Amino acid sequence: MIKLYILLGGNLGDKQQVFSEARARLNQQVGTITNQSAIYETEPWGFESDDIFWNQVIEISTAFSQEEVLLKTQQIEQELGRVRKVNQFDSRIIDIDILFYGDQIIKTENLTVPHPRIQERKFALIPLCEIAPELIHPVFQKSIRQLLDECTDPLKVEKVTETHNS
Ligand code: ADP
Ligand code: MG
Repeated sequence: MIKLYILLGGNLGDKQQVFSEARARLNQQVGTITNQSAIYETEPWGFESDDIFWNQVIEISTAFSQEEVLLKTQQIEQELGRVRKVNQFDSRIIDIDILFYGDQIIKTENLTVPHPRIQERKFALIPLCEIAPELIHPVFQKSIRQLLDECTDPLKVEKVTETHNS
């Protein structure tokens, strides 16, 4: 089994409902969810509340290959998009990114793992640090905690109230 870390992101629709469905489908189709961070919101400067992004990191134990995981997560993105927005097929209400696939380094046409922008984004590093502070980034050979300490991303990332996190 491989330990997989996934980042959920979204800023449209009923985010609580969408995130909850995304987790249920990941658990059914990709592998058992073994841990999850709180949900965090990233507030873009001066935006209306509809545009606030939610992010959450999910740890999954999977037997699927990285290509299979990518296909399945893309399928879940599509399913959720279709369920929520019947008339707007291009509108994507959930982004499911693969952060880490074990300690493997993968670079194909469709897939770069570890995700190439983890180290630049506090909305990935902060939830990741909550559940896996000692995880070593296989490219930089630094822990998540170290990468977060060194990250200069100025965007504010805050925990969403506990009641939304189940
Ligand atoms: P973004 O996540 O950058 O906002 P998309 O979700 O539309 O954009 O993804 C665009 C493409 O990124 C996907 O078609 C996928 O093949 C590719 N991709 C490369 N590496 C990854 C990764 N680690 N996780 C998810 N998608 C990836
Ligand atoms: Mg994506």
